Amino acid sequence: MAVTEPAPAAPPATYEGILRRQAMRESAARTYARSLPIVPVRARGLTIEGADGRRYLDCLSGAGTLALGHNHPVVLEAIKKVLDSGAPLHVLDLATPVKDAFTTELFATLPREFADNARIQFCGPAGTDAVEAAFKLVRAATGRSGLLAFTGAYHGMTAGALAASGGAEDVRVTRLPFPQEYRCPFGVGGERGASIAARWTETLLDDPKSGTPAPGGMILEPVQGEGGVNPAPDSWLRRMRDITASRSIPLIADEVQTGVGRTGTFWAVEHSGVIPDVMVLSKAIGGSLPLAVIVYRSELDTWQPGAHAGTFRGNQLAMAAGTATLAYVRENRLAERAGTLGARMLASLRALAVDHPCIGDVRGRGLMIGVELVDPEAAPVDGGSAAPPDPALAVAVQQECLRRGLIVELGGRHSTVVRLLPPLTLTDEQATAVLDRLADAMAAAEHSPHRRTATGSIR
Ligand code: PMP
Repeated sequence: MAVTEPAPAAPPATYEGILRRQAMRESAARTYARSLPIVPVRARGLTIEGADGRRYLDCLSGAGTLALGHNHPVVLEAIKKVLDSGAPLHVLDLATPVKDAFTTELFATLPREFADNARIQFCGPAGTDAVEAAFKLVRAATGRSGLLAFTGAYHGMTAGALAASGGAEDVRVTRLPFPQEYRCPFGVGGERGASIAARWTETLLDDPKSGTPAPGGMILEPVQGEGGVNPAPDSWLRRMRDITASRSIPLIADEVQTGVGRTGTFWAVEHSGVIPDVMVLSKAIGGSLPLAVIVYRSELDTWQPGAHAGTFRGNQLAMAAGTATLAYVRENRLAERAGTLGARMLASLRALAVDHPCIGDVRGRGLMIGVELVDPEAAPVDGGSAAPPDPALAVAVQQECLRRGLIVELGGRHSTVVRLLPPLTLTDEQATAVLDRLADAMAAAEHSPHRRTATGSIR
């Protein structure tokens, strides 16, 4: 396959120098750059070429942004068309033909019942800004400042979004249990675990002594991404819809990562048929360029002019790239393709788990896949049946993947879930190559003498 051919190598000094200068000059907060010390110089589809002359299969896809992979021709064409047209690139939030086309295409992909009565707010270009906008919107509309959010959630890095993410503290945020099949907080898993989780939510909301601040909204991810690829059961999502609707609490679906076909339907809420009050959209809607919006039920639009402003809300290139991406995914039924290919990949990974006791769980939906790595020799924790997570092994697997030219991300509570977020354009042949490299990496990492424990000692 072409992906295994080495690209023409740059002189080592070039990329080694770039990495060295990055380590010296960029902040200690840098993230992906630490575990993936590569210098991308060219990219197409699933493949990235590094300045070291190597090619990598990219299953990180800009943290789930690249629905069509890198530099898809329809995306490049859309960008070039705007550039060649002489259209202004910076327009604040003024109306333009490019924006009009984007909104029309986006609304055409949304559930009809929702889109028919919806408003859109263009936000600052990061997902986290759209999350902030959603919170402000529902707080303004309800006059209540509390928020309901879930264990394991991730909504972004600005103050409000961070407060709603798992692990954060904010007196206004009530943390509710997100159902988990594998490490069910109630020790039962399945529908029953999800049902207890829903009941807990309901009880808390109705208990006048629960100490829950009056909620302006509930935010959830239909499949938790950064939290370790936890798909919400459809029945649980419907219960959340009923619970919130009957108490006039707006439901915010954060589809920043699950949107645009990733989970097997165009929007992940479609699996359950739930119509939220607000949808937070970013990542893939910009076709690889920065773009973030909220779309919401028009009755919530009690905002004053300027209630959520920002200089960079009119990125014309991102809107054009996004329109092309949305249309391509819709016309080529890539959501369906993600569903069938994802199911096949999950089945292959479950077969792999039979020979690898360190694979504690394989889960996901569509092309949002997670493989949780555990230490099978250690005793189960918390009275449950699951072996404890193995962060050292996860790091080793990620590094062995990189050595084999495969880029994967780690997620989950203990960073022990290997995450696959390949483009929806992934071919069967490429899927096999990804799985082969992952299997090889897993075998190498398991037997690696350099496998370290989380505390750093060699085991
Ligand atoms: N919500 C979800 C579900 C996400 O996965 C992310 C990013 N991983 C965000 C919000 C925040 O988006 P951004 O990083 O663009 O601010």
